[in-house]
Amino acid sequence: MHIAVIGAGVVGVSSAYLLARAGHRVTLIDAEAAPGRGASAANAGQLSWAYGDAMASPALLRHLPAILAHRDPAFRVRLRLDADFLLWGLRFLSHAPSRRWWKNTSAILRLADESRREMATLLAEADLTFDYRVAGKLHLYPDAPSLAAARPTVERKRQMGLDQRILSRAEAEAVEPALKKYQGDVAGAVYTPDDALGDAAAFCRQLTDFAAHRYAISRAFGKRVVGFEQHAGRLSAVRFADCEPLPVDVAVVTAGPLIRTLTAALPEARAVQPVAGYSLTVPWQQGAPHVSLTDVKRKLAFAAIGYRFRVAGLADIVTPGSGFAQDRFAILRETARAVLPGCFDQAEWSQHWSGERPMTPSSHPLIAPSRKIRGVYVNAGHGMLGWTLALGSARRLADMLA
Ligand SMILES: Cc1cc2nc3c(=O)[nH]c(=O)nc-3n(C[C@H](O)[C@H](O)[C@H](O)COP(=O)(O)OP(=O)(O)OC[C@H]3O[C@@H](n4cnc5c(N)ncnc54)[C@H](O)[C@@H]3O)c2cc1C
Repeated sequence: MHIAVIGAGVVGVSSAYLLARAGHRVTLIDAEAAPGRGASAANAGQLSWAYGDAMASPALLRHLPAILAHRDPAFRVRLRLDADFLLWGLRFLSHAPSRRWWKNTSAILRLADESRREMATLLAEADLTFDYRVAGKLHLYPDAPSLAAARPTVERKRQMGLDQRILSRAEAEAVEPALKKYQGDVAGAVYTPDDALGDAAAFCRQLTDFAAHRYAISRAFGKRVVGFEQHAGRLSAVRFADCEPLPVDVAVVTAGPLIRTLTAALPEARAVQPVAGYSLTVPWQQGAPHVSLTDVKRKLAFAAIGYRFRVAGLADIVTPGSGFAQDRFAILRETARAVLPGCFDQAEWSQHWSGERPMTPSSHPLIAPSRKIRGVYVNAGHGMLGWTLALGSARRLADMLA
């Protein structure tokens, strides 16, 4: 079976690899000249096997008035009179009640576990260099009530077999001594020793090369897909903006946030809302943390990725494709400088980036056949956790196609 995988971010590259490993003939397509240039380019790098918390939650619902009143700099929401956006917003809110939140979160955690196992298999098979490391992660809570509120979820995750522990600030500082200089309020932390990290963009490049050599996947970069051709009620070819169609038996759409550009052919794309975020990467220097940190109050993630140190965060629901907003990036940079003084001062070869998280209302990705065209499948909508969930989602898709 000849399968076109449309989009070479973490989800597409993982899908292409597992489909080729299962014996299919695979062509990996991307509009960009190389893999890993979209949402996967400079994310926070965290492989959050034990996080997985869905974004629509009772806590976010309580916080919504402050977000809409622009009182929390971590979020920017611009309401739009657009039917798809309003429907997405209503569906998002319907996922916020406690029971639905846990149903979504536990489903995401199961998928993350499948990813973790696929990652172990991949690392045993391939010698990939993407600064992978089991760094552990500390979620920092600003005060005793917020730390206490985290406890029931930690207990539930422990019942699922995940290793999470509640630490006092002193215990957290023993795990990561750089926290002694942390300038934000920290009452304590949730520690996940098994969480890993890695450079998602390097993973995309390396796994593409590996799959091309080991499993003979074909690469079609610099080619933008604009639609599909059908014959006798099923997919016959993938159409490009500026070259001949590619005849295929199956197409898997892994276009991340840009799946919305294919909405006319693919109604499933309406389930994906882009949520923009930012990152700043500088050289790692002595005294910066080794362990991954998430500041729960400021919604910032810090990661030491190889010789680099990165902060990522902010969640902006604005006009899709708005690009880099200087004022939003300035908030990220100034907050990071304030809480970890000295770590983000270097100007030389620092990297500024913004990307869009492809978010579904439930935060669970859509891994399913298209309702409109037989032979087309969707693997998209991985939101805040696409790097974490990519290999597990690819495994589910490969099983579906088998
Ligand atoms: C600031 C920030 C921090 C994050 N931190 C983390 C983290 O720490 N851990 C984590 O697990 N996740 C994180 N994420 C989320 C994660 O980065 C995304 O969920 C993930 O990258 C999505 O991958 P993808 O392959 O679906 O999309 P993408 O990486 O965007 O890949 C889609 C690809 O499809 C291509 N494409 C689109 N349309 C077409 C078309 N019509 N024709 C041809 N090609 C097309 C694009 O060029 C692109 O290369 C973060 C995201 C952001 C923004």
